Amino acid sequence: MTQPDLTAEQWKRRALRAEGAVFHALWMHPLTYNNETASEMRGRFHQHIEATYPDLITRSSHQPIQVYARADACGCKEDGSVEYENAHNEPDDEDGYVCLRRPLGRVCEHCEDEDGDGPEWLPDGVLWPCPPIVALNACLTGTEETAR
Ligand SMILES: [Zn+2]
Ligand SMILES: [Zn+2]
Repeated sequence: MTQPDLTAEQWKRRALRAEGAVFHALWMHPLTYNNETASEMRGRFHQHIEATYPDLITRSSHQPIQVYARADACGCKEDGSVEYENAHNEPDDEDGYVCLRRPLGRVCEHCEDEDGDGPEWLPDGVLWPCPPIVALNACLTGTEETAR
């Protein structure tokens, strides 16, 4: 499945929606007539965003994460140079390091492949764009890929 590139017009629509959500946040005030508390206002704001911009919520939780090869298996020659050190001092999720010279691909930070059918370098990962994002983008381009 390949992801269609968005056109300038589609990016503009996305940007305008995001801008609308930000404006709403900036202009919102506590309801004074019933002494709304900060947490009540936060709840009201979340409800509004969930009802009006469910796509933005999906996008913000389904962000891509770049995955790199492990530094102990990347195959770079350890020459003690500053360049080598800089490329290999990023810790991974366990107790090792990653090699910034060997990007493997991008996965979704939210989705998980419970059957372990993901990419060979991260079997429980889901390649990004993941299905929810693909579906959102399909709505945007009007090419209902998922409907066929
Ligand atoms: Zn390396
Ligand atoms: Zn996802």
